[in-house]
Amino acid sequence: MKLDVNVLRYLSKDDFRVLTAVEMGMRNHEIVPSELLDRIAGLKHGGTYKVLKNLLKYKLLHHDRSKYDGFRLTYLGYDFLAIKTLVNRGVFTGVGRQIGVGKESDIFEVAQEDGTILAMKLHRLGRTSFRAVKSKRDYLRHRSSFSWLYLSRLAALKEFAFMKALEEHDFPVPKAIDCNRHCVIMSLVQGYPMVQVKQLQNPETIFEKIIGIVVRLAEHGLIHCDFNEFNIMIDDEEKITMIDFPQMVSVSHQNAQMFSISFQEDRDDETEVEVDENSRPSFYDITKDANALDRELEASGFTKKEQNDLDKVCPPYDLSNNITAYLCEPFIEGGLEKSTDSDEDEESDDEEQTLNEMESLQLQEEKRSDEVEAE
Ligand code: ADP
Ligand code: MG
Repeated sequence: MKLDVNVLRYLSKDDFRVLTAVEMGMRNHEIVPSELLDRIAGLKHGGTYKVLKNLLKYKLLHHDRSKYDGFRLTYLGYDFLAIKTLVNRGVFTGVGRQIGVGKESDIFEVAQEDGTILAMKLHRLGRTSFRAVKSKRDYLRHRSSFSWLYLSRLAALKEFAFMKALEEHDFPVPKAIDCNRHCVIMSLVQGYPMVQVKQLQNPETIFEKIIGIVVRLAEHGLIHCDFNEFNIMIDDEEKITMIDFPQMVSVSHQNAQMFSISFQEDRDDETEVEVDENSRPSFYDITKDANALDRELEASGFTKKEQNDLDKVCPPYDLSNNITAYLCEPFIEGGLEKSTDSDEDEESDDEEQTLNEMESLQLQEEKRSDEVEAE
């Protein structure tokens, strides 16, 4: 699906109101029933249905009638909600060309008012397997199970939190600018992914730099898990920038000690680099820094709970296989529920809360437009 940001211009306040209502409804419904949507959006005279038609036309929603009449956001709809929020915050003013596409992300250039170009990464966790599994899932039983919306948001939050923490410790990473929903805004890295570079002027220096980064990560209690030529950018001056660390784990993570040991053994064999046993950080040394780092991550909103949720669907590595193995099966049947409790009271509480939030959102919106008019 192509991200056509021109559509943003044609979307009215009511369009966004209904789009937001779908997002809120999706917290506890995979497909949001039409009547609930109408109640959350609260538009008069059947306004919601007219707006829904418009949103469908622009492919921001998906209409599902398989079990009951309802709607869910498409990636495009979720993209627009994030973009609108970030534009309102003044983070950027326009979206440019696409500069990268991954299995689970799309990267675009965005421009700020003064012409500065930044990179926008839209996480798309579960893009590949969502459709296949969706049909198997039972609406009531999975009412509170993790959705791709939640998972993509977690992935973005994780990337943002790590990027900020890494930058604070002088690691060569893009500057983390802002984060909303599944979207991370960061500085644009000049240069190319290392995989595209045919010849290096100073391969030894680059090698040392890269190994230096791995060692320094370990000293901070971090394991990258996917440090390769796709995720290292290099510019004409052969400056290195590390991007993309979805699987990065801190040693406080349950498997990290085991992983760290297997990492050290594998590395020595494969690369035949002479490493002085005593100069390597021990697991004990590493854990000293890890707690400080965990606190920094939590400051950005990425807590142990978020890491655990993400681990359940995206185990960071498979120790039985090899060190870079990465299993990602976002919609494994069962075992993913946040709460197995599904009584009716809880549902109506949820709905009440959603309606209240929608109301306060509307008040904020009205206040903001009053302020703009007053200026
Ligand atoms: P994925 O998680 O899908 O692998 P990446 O973060 O590795 O996504 O980005 C995919 C591609 O997008 C990269 O290989 C690179 O070409 C480009 N890219 C990502 N982030 C930036 C950035 N900050 N500046 C410039 N290009 C970037
Ligand atoms: Mg990558």
